[in-house]
Amino acid sequence: MQTKRTPLTKFSEMVNLSSYMEQAKRFHQDHKEHLNRAAIIAEEVTSDFFKLSLSHWRRARYDILTREGLWAEEICSHALALVAKYNGRPQDRLLGSAVFDFYRVCLQDHNILKTLEQRDDLSLFPLLLYIVTHELVHVVRFSQFLALFEAPEEVKQEEERRVHRLTQKILAPLNVRDLSPVIRYYDDNLEGGWQYADLRVSV
Ligand SMILES: [Zn+2]
Repeated sequence: MQTKRTPLTKFSEMVNLSSYMEQAKRFHQDHKEHLNRAAIIAEEVTSDFFKLSLSHWRRARYDILTREGLWAEEICSHALALVAKYNGRPQDRLLGSAVFDFYRVCLQDHNILKTLEQRDDLSLFPLLLYIVTHELVHVVRFSQFLALFEAPEEVKQEEERRVHRLTQKILAPLNVRDLSPVIRYYDDNLEGGWQYADLRVSV
């Protein structure tokens, strides 16, 4: 598959990237194991909630990436995750009709780890489960044209609130231990949506 990189529009806050990368922290194997578990659950409950078929996911594909898999412009200083949208096309197809939307859910390991260091009430698994589910809700809503990737700031902020409510609704039946502090953390950090960057880091 080829992925055409359509640049994201607002990276003005991505300052001093090189020094930032020097001090960056990344997920280790145990973090990734938690992430794999969280992603499997998030994918299943989100698909069930929206009653999605396999053909839906063939039209709107996505990948979930940690820091080591991100391109430089997908790394940011203040969000725990963001969604980037690209055009994908199978390598053996030249026709425009073969183009599909391709989303990269970009986890910001360094910000997630920093937040966990700062907040005793948060723990890794419920935080990852929330983040991945939340980002997949965005992907579903973009792919069903219920939300536009490019939208005015007020619309994005309203969409953030909606996605937050949906994410809580999706996860509530699971009774995940220690999820409540994550929900509260998000409630406190909802302000200032930025290009669908999510869960801002407290400073
Ligand atoms: Zn969001």
